[in-house]
Amino acid sequence: MCFGFIFATAKLRKRITTMAIIITDDCINCGACEPECPNTAIYEGADDWRYKDGTSLEGKIVLPDGKEVDADETQEPISDEVYYIAPDKCTECMGFHETPQCAEVCPVDCCVPDEDVVETEEELLAKQKFMHPDG
Ligand code: SF4
Ligand code: SF4
Repeated sequence: MCFGFIFATAKLRKRITTMAIIITDDCINCGACEPECPNTAIYEGADDWRYKDGTSLEGKIVLPDGKEVDADETQEPISDEVYYIAPDKCTECMGFHETPQCAEVCPVDCCVPDEDVVETEEELLAKQKFMHPDG
């Protein structure tokens, strides 16, 4: 009779710290970034936003960070002047693309990391899965 040895392999999971993307006041309102966002996290200045836009979310939900929201409810615009990003919906494009697509197409490089919204890669991927459970 053979006895197997169980080797516990500790996986060192690297917790990469990253940030959501923010649009600065340098935005020229060209609109190029909006259709590129896989999470529909980008809105024109003064437009309302909703969690349900472009996602599978609907009705009362609890976000991965524990916050309770209504996905159907309109939310106040974050900027009245220029395009803006709803930080709760931005995943830095993780789960869809290798790089933030808004930053790729922006002609004036005003889509930059938001130092006030720091999240790990795991958190961003969990957020992406939460919004798009079917892929
Ligand atoms: Fe959307 Fe990606 Fe830009 Fe975030 S980084 S706003 S997910 S296009
Ligand atoms: Fe503003 Fe850049 Fe988006 Fe154009 S691509 S709307 S300049 S953030």
